[in-house]
Amino acid sequence: MSADTEAVLVRPADAHNARLVANVHPPDWRNPTPAPSYNLVVIGAGTAGLVTAAGAAGLGAKVALVEKYLLGGDCLSVGCVPSKAVIRCSRATFDANEAGRFGVRVGAPAQADFPAVMERMRKLRADLSPHDSAQRFAKLGVDVFLGEAQFTGPDTIQVAGKTLRFKRAVIATGARALQPPIPGLAEAGYLTNETVFSLTQRPGRLAVIGGGPIGCELAQAFQRLGSQVSLLHKNAHLLDREDMDAAALVQRAFVHEGIAMRLNAKITRVERNGGGKLVCYEAQGTEETLAVDEILAGAGRAPNVEGLNLEAVGVQYDPRKGVLVNDCLQTTNPRIYAAGDVCLTWKFTHAADFSARIVIQNALFLGRKKASALTMPWCTYTDPEIAHVGLYERDARERGIEVDTYVREFKEVDRAVLDGEEEGFVKFHVRKGRDEILGATIVARHAGEMISEVSVAMAARMGLGKLAAVIHPYPTQAEALRQCGDAYNRTRLTPSVKKWMGRWLAWQRS
Ligand SMILES: Cc1cc2nc3c(=O)[nH]c(=O)nc-3n(C[C@H](O)[C@H](O)[C@H](O)COP(=O)(O)OP(=O)(O)OC[C@H]3O[C@@H](n4cnc5c(N)ncnc54)[C@H](O)[C@@H]3O)c2cc1C
Repeated sequence: MSADTEAVLVRPADAHNARLVANVHPPDWRNPTPAPSYNLVVIGAGTAGLVTAAGAAGLGAKVALVEKYLLGGDCLSVGCVPSKAVIRCSRATFDANEAGRFGVRVGAPAQADFPAVMERMRKLRADLSPHDSAQRFAKLGVDVFLGEAQFTGPDTIQVAGKTLRFKRAVIATGARALQPPIPGLAEAGYLTNETVFSLTQRPGRLAVIGGGPIGCELAQAFQRLGSQVSLLHKNAHLLDREDMDAAALVQRAFVHEGIAMRLNAKITRVERNGGGKLVCYEAQGTEETLAVDEILAGAGRAPNVEGLNLEAVGVQYDPRKGVLVNDCLQTTNPRIYAAGDVCLTWKFTHAADFSARIVIQNALFLGRKKASALTMPWCTYTDPEIAHVGLYERDARERGIEVDTYVREFKEVDRAVLDGEEEGFVKFHVRKGRDEILGATIVARHAGEMISEVSVAMAARMGLGKLAAVIHPYPTQAEALRQCGDAYNRTRLTPSVKKWMGRWLAWQRS
């Protein structure tokens, strides 16, 4: 019997990508015969869709999962997984070239073997793919349909000529790279996260458009792998969402590593230039041009709301914000929910995961779980990393909340000094007059590993003062967190308490 889905090709067509595709869009897949009715039909098999489908099926629901391209979505194929694999190799190259700082001689400057770096990434991506595979989800009891889904009626979805009838549906169609409205860019051609991981040859000169998390991570990775990277960003500092002092440390590292920074840059047009491209931009009132071999656009994400026929089922959406949902992740059609990038401002895999858990409870079990109750950390995987959870000081100010801020710089933390990783800090915002952590930012080489401790404290409503009482092994960089707690506790030592203690000790001596 022949397959009833279209075959997909992930470039380059090598054995690793064939293994990936065999798992997440099997060429010989046959869609099952639809059940008469489903408790839940999930559109999109990225993290949000997979978690929703697996969780609901595990609780006994009859579930259909529809995916038009690759199960695993962006995270597995063109997002977190390939980017972190490539970043790891770029760090190895950087560290080899920094070895002299540690008294280690490695001879000639280390150079990344770009084709080998990309092959390693493809291999690891294929290695991780069985977890998201169609076969695994079928074994979990989920009816997996490959094809593009569209609403056709109040309780029906069509896919590959089959009709799926649902009691509840979940839109988990994710987001894609925004096409920057720059004249000439589309004609000249450019890379996005959807194509950059198919490269097998390193671009000699690379312009990265956008200084957000994706642009910054990939700009630094490619610079370290040997491209000459120019990073163009429309604002005065990178990583707009982060505090200026945090972003400044990343910016300083970029300049030190030789990335050509073009801040406050407004790109006016792109032209073809022989085999390469010419990026024309204005900065500080002057017109400049930049000749490059490739352009990578990382200038924001657009939710995938088109082609679903949402109008027919009364699901409201905004082309920029995505599907509109209430705090329970219910759309304007009470039988239809949404999860992940298509509806959240937090566009992270872990956010997609936890929004899916909320949807399972609310859609199937009359739950009232709220997205606003989530404690959501995130991390940008530059070097140093910036990780954050909770409120920024500006958020607190906007909400009229007064905060006290505690900062510990890594140059004061023994382990960071010994590691040669003094650049960075831990910063806590605590509600004034109460031992309540409202938010924290960490800038450190492994900030992403450290932020979870703060998330645990916040989720458990543990104050900064209590964190000071948690013993941390010496020497670790995470001691910086405890040291902020010590700083907090010192402020509790009011003059009258100090006076009382002085009197007590004097009496003990007498
Ligand atoms: C370069 C890059 C690096 C990233 N790094 C990180 C990171 O380090 N950490 C982190 O937390 N996040 C990271 N992210 C973000 C993360 O990838 C996303 O937040 C996550 O993938 C969102 O999951 P999702 O399920 O909402 O959407 P997606 O993963 O986009 O999945 C949506 C799925 O729906 C399918 N679909 C769409 N329309 C239809 C339709 N009509 N019918 C059937 N199927 C459909 C799509 O094909 C897709 O497979 C990164 C993103 C990028 C681009």
